[in-house]
Amino acid sequence: MSQNQHIHCLVDSCHYWSDGNRCQANEIMVTSDSFGASQPDEVDAKQSMALSPTPANTCMDTCCKTFVPHEGNIEVDEIERMT
Ligand code: SF4
Repeated sequence: MSQNQHIHCLVDSCHYWSDGNRCQANEIMVTSDSFGASQPDEVDAKQSMALSPTPANTCMDTCCKTFVPHEGNIEVDEIERMT
């Protein structure tokens, strides 16, 4: 990810979310809704190279698979929520 690239996200209940609606995750995985809903939480960005693309017909058919609840384990990575 380039230094100038930003992921804007409104899911403020996520561990990676920060002020200004910014995602602080080093990498995320976005899939079609149908694929995302069929996979367990363990399927995430680290497996992306081994997975086949999941086409979507419209923006309504996608989701983010890197979501981690705020109340979840803060030790998931080095990212700390900025308050
Ligand atoms: S990981 Fe996904 S849900 Fe969480 S802040 Fe980033 S884009 Fe939003």
